[in-house]
Amino acid sequence: MTTHNVTLIRGDGIGPEIAEVTRECLEATGVAFNWDVQEAGIDVMEAQGTPLPESVLESLRTNKVGIKAPITTPVGKGFRSVNVQLRKELDLYACVRPCKTYEGVSSRYKDIDLVVVRENTEDLYAGIEFERDADDTGKLLEFIQEFRPDSKIGTHPGISIKPISVSGTERVVQYAFDYARANGRKKVTAVHKANIMKFSDGLFLDVAREVAAKNSDIEFDDRIVDNMAMQLVQTPENYDVLVLPNLYGDIMSDLCAALVGGLGVAPGANIGEGGALFEPVHGSAPKYAGQDKVNPMAMILSGVLMLRHLGEVSAGDRLERAVAKVVAEGTHVTYDLRPGRSHQGAAGTKEMGRAIIRALEA
Ligand code: NAD
Repeated sequence: MTTHNVTLIRGDGIGPEIAEVTRECLEATGVAFNWDVQEAGIDVMEAQGTPLPESVLESLRTNKVGIKAPITTPVGKGFRSVNVQLRKELDLYACVRPCKTYEGVSSRYKDIDLVVVRENTEDLYAGIEFERDADDTGKLLEFIQEFRPDSKIGTHPGISIKPISVSGTERVVQYAFDYARANGRKKVTAVHKANIMKFSDGLFLDVAREVAAKNSDIEFDDRIVDNMAMQLVQTPENYDVLVLPNLYGDIMSDLCAALVGGLGVAPGANIGEGGALFEPVHGSAPKYAGQDKVNPMAMILSGVLMLRHLGEVSAGDRLERAVAKVVAEGTHVTYDLRPGRSHQGAAGTKEMGRAIIRALEA
């Protein structure tokens, strides 16, 4: 039996509680892990002077697979988001968010089963920004005036640059097809605004079509992003795997999460050449820290994605079924899955984890 070397980042706030329960559930599948437990976040900041010690990055570079609990990004206290740093340092270029209906999670939609693959490194998030009235912005405006004399820009603009490259698009679209194939999916839809932004979104669409031609065993189509938003609300059942540039991906992944009951139950993965980091979509919910109250489901389902990534597909399927069973029964679930989000009669984090392990063993 293979033992998997995995970096476990316990996070802060509610992180350590859900990380512990997730580890127990993953071990209960019978898959063997050699955990490298790493600390990052605000608690480490005080002791080590950085929220992201080099040892965390080294561990991830060595193991190439990690699972991470949420980490707080304090507002206005001057440290960069650890989450963003991790994605940048490890070049985790694809953000994958499956959005699936589980019976017992309240939503007005039924039977949703979508996967959003968001490009994670380019687009308006590349950080190439020009501040209003700054010297370099003045130079940029002169350049634009010279080469695009017809463009009309109002006074004192701030400007963000939107780079979308052939290499960046190729790798994320190829990943979407690889994911579709590995997970028995039928169709990949590329989402863009190529009718307006011909050289950035237009490039994304052209390259997506080229990649699709090399992956003709999987169906391919494309949608303009505004139309996609409407169709996801009206007929989400027509879609399967979506691949999008960074900004549209950010917005559409929240829309898709809303279709299945919100961010609190959604798992995620960040994938790159150098490795894969699995994490729940929700944050560190500091107000519930240390209270054994929050739902571990999103992190456990992130563990399910990790199991499949490691090739432990049947263990992943079993763990997902165990989570689904406990959530559908609704007895040993945390407050957020109770009628009216009532804390009365709700299970704690650990109790829900124990129920999932019992369901796994049944
Ligand atoms: P949040 O997701 O932490 O919490 C918002 C609310 O959602 C909570 O108050 C709680 O009511 C509910 N909630 C969240 N997770 C839950 C769970 N597992 N079970 C039950 N209820 C849950 O969002 P926020 O308050 O905007 O952010 C708090 C901190 O987390 C911020 O510092 C933010 O930067 C950080 N954050 C980190 C990540 C990450 O590590 N990837 C992601 C998002 C936010």
